[in-house]
Amino acid sequence: MSQHKLRIMVTGGCGFIGSAVCRYLAGQGDAVILNFDALTYAASEASLDDLRGHNSYAFVKGDVADAGAVARAIADFRPTHIMHLAAESHVDRSITGPGAFIQTNIVGTYVMLQAALDYWRTLDAEAAGAFRFHHISTDEVFGSLGAEGLFSETTPYDPRSPYSASKAASDHMVRAWYHTYGLPVVVSNCSNNYGPYHFPEKLIPLVTLNALEGQPLPVYGQGDNIRDWLYVDDHARALVTIATRGRVGESYTVGGRNERTNLEVVEAICDLLDELRPQPGLKRRDLIRFVPDRPGHDARYAIDATKLETELGWTAEETFDTGLRKTVEWYLAREDWWRPLRDRYAGQRLGL
Ligand code: NAD
Repeated sequence: MSQHKLRIMVTGGCGFIGSAVCRYLAGQGDAVILNFDALTYAASEASLDDLRGHNSYAFVKGDVADAGAVARAIADFRPTHIMHLAAESHVDRSITGPGAFIQTNIVGTYVMLQAALDYWRTLDAEAAGAFRFHHISTDEVFGSLGAEGLFSETTPYDPRSPYSASKAASDHMVRAWYHTYGLPVVVSNCSNNYGPYHFPEKLIPLVTLNALEGQPLPVYGQGDNIRDWLYVDDHARALVTIATRGRVGESYTVGGRNERTNLEVVEAICDLLDELRPQPGLKRRDLIRFVPDRPGHDARYAIDATKLETELGWTAEETFDTGLRKTVEWYLAREDWWRPLRDRYAGQRLGL
């Protein structure tokens, strides 16, 4: 038995945000971590190289929709907390192939809830009181904002893509398992993340790598869709705060108060690369190409994180400018990480 009090099972720990959570928890040193991940196309075991051989970290390959595998992992590990991040997460992929999103995001969350409930019912009163099932979700469940207003915990759900609809369904189930069965849950809905170890098909890494190689930078529509960007390590810290100190049955919206149009994001990356990796005769902004918009493309997302800030004392440490510089510098330094993934993925479309 370990002397650690916290035993945190992270699903999807080989993904972009899950790996940041595992690295953050390992760095804090007060938790034992079990990473349960199916290793889909979106996974990168190399994102967790720093944790290899770490005596408080273990990995189990498994599918969250496989009830037997989930039950075995929970029974063996005996978590105090489950942080459920495993999901299909790319909107463009949800448009071309929604089936995997239904299976992992909806069926998988149902299986996780049932397994957590069965386990939680076996705990003594103290352990049952301390147990938390933290469901990690997105602000995309709230639909699209006009020019004014912010998403908060009380915003009605209005998902528009197969991805956001599947996440909305899972959020509703998590709350139902709290109200119906008493499972101690907490939910968080976050805005767009960016930072190191982001899969190369997503907007910021894709633009960075295309611009680095002098390739066209496709931007949907007029590039005027607005996203509220949060640096991934700020999100990881918020998630651990919510999992360990959030109030049972509550939800928390998480965001960095960093609204940018997609065009502003792409231009900022171009300017950073012109500064950090100048190429004579090339202005990266000249590589921008406007392409037909994605169907159902939400106009604006923006988050009011007041509840998380005031109740749990979390604030984002990075501004968009400091976080983006760190991110671009990281991609310049870590070709060993992104090259194999980029070679596997053609990198043509621009997803969010
Ligand atoms: P990601 O696509 O980078 O990683 C997902 C991980 O889940 C991968 O390691 C994959 O192998 C694993 N996975 C997928 N299906 C699985 C299955 N059936 N069983 C077990 N593991 C499986 O995703 P991400 O960007 O790190 O997002 C993590 C979570 O955060 C998701 O639930 C997503 O909805 C949410 N979220 C993401 C963002 C964002 O900007 N990326 C913003 C808000 C919320």
